[in-house]
Amino acid sequence: MNVLVINCGSSSLKFQLINSDSEAVLAKGLCERIGIDGRLTYQPAGGEKEVSDKAMPTHTEAIQFVIDALTNEKTGVVKSLDEIGAVGHRVVHGGEKFASSVVITDEVKKAVEECNDLAPLHNPANLIGVAACEKLMPGTPMVAVFDTAFHQTMPEKAYMYGLPYEYYEKYKVRRYGFHGTSHSYVSKRAAEILGVPYDQTKTIVCHLGNGSSISAVLNGKSVDTSMGLTPLEGLVMGTRSGDIDPAILEFIAKKENLDIAGLMNMLNKKSGVFGLSNNLSSDFRDLDAAAVDGNVPAKIALQVFAYRVAKYVGSYVAAMNGVDNIVFTAGIGENSGPVRADVLSYLGYLGIEVDEEANKKRGEEVMISTPDSKVKVLVVPTNEELAIARETVALL
Ligand code: ADP
Repeated sequence: MNVLVINCGSSSLKFQLINSDSEAVLAKGLCERIGIDGRLTYQPAGGEKEVSDKAMPTHTEAIQFVIDALTNEKTGVVKSLDEIGAVGHRVVHGGEKFASSVVITDEVKKAVEECNDLAPLHNPANLIGVAACEKLMPGTPMVAVFDTAFHQTMPEKAYMYGLPYEYYEKYKVRRYGFHGTSHSYVSKRAAEILGVPYDQTKTIVCHLGNGSSISAVLNGKSVDTSMGLTPLEGLVMGTRSGDIDPAILEFIAKKENLDIAGLMNMLNKKSGVFGLSNNLSSDFRDLDAAAVDGNVPAKIALQVFAYRVAKYVGSYVAAMNGVDNIVFTAGIGENSGPVRADVLSYLGYLGIEVDEEANKKRGEEVMISTPDSKVKVLVVPTNEELAIARETVALL
């Protein structure tokens, strides 16, 4: 079956058409600037990337252009819509309502809408993508795959904050965690590579990208993760602060005359390694290059990033009373040997020995610990689209 995987944002839409039997990507692309003007990037497997400006007042036009591209006589990859058996939608927040993926029905849409408050930027956009697909592909089954679902197995002690209980009761304020599709895919894949039973292994997944999070996966289930009610908590990220002393907010608000929106903008967009590096860059390639040139804020940003990752790994070793495997994934985790080495330099006490040659590799599945290392350390490239396609087929 061919599955169209859709990841819909407020003004953009990423897509991949995946054949679920061969797991090959038949075509992929991106619609940008929806509601502004509109641009489609489309690339069939083995073909040239095409970029074209097209008017996209709403997501419906964007999806229509995606369908036109996929079925185009010359560069399309299917003859008609009949060859697309299902659509898998990435949905960011499933709250406590969704502990797994679901076939989309009117009830499901209503329940997702009820989670809009928890992810006001993402969930409404995800629902718009669902509505646009339903309009243009009537009768095609749709599945919702949630970023939060994998972490619904966390125990209360991991997801409750030290806040008045009534906020949990009234507003469901708690840790949810994100990147669940990636943490699930990568931890499972690591067990496969190592040939160990997934349900009898302790894994820590470090998903280090522009947004970064860590999870503790005990016997195949997430028992803790670093992102919280929102993706702002936890690690120091590209532009997000991660954990800080909450009292800093009042202090800075007074000094800089900022309101809540100004503070949130600072924490989400101006902090992290970008802010730490004195606004040099949120991209680790730039920071690495600057650090080599002796740029002190860039060096500090890289050190703070790795130190925070290592501290979280340590806390998850405590949470699981041990660890068998540590897995690095996402843009930084897959590509940056220096960041991995820096993180692992704090973890010698676990009996980790790094294979320095293997750690030079980029973007491929590789074991970067030595054969004697007590804890196995791997790089596993994440593939959220494939995971969504698999979930979609499994449910149908
Ligand atoms: P997201 O999906 O959260 O937007 P990604 O997982 O694609 O992010 O990661 C993007 C980040 O990966 C970039 O900002 C950059 O910092 C980092 N990255 C990509 N390639 C490299 C590389 N070769 N070396 C170091 N960092 C890299």
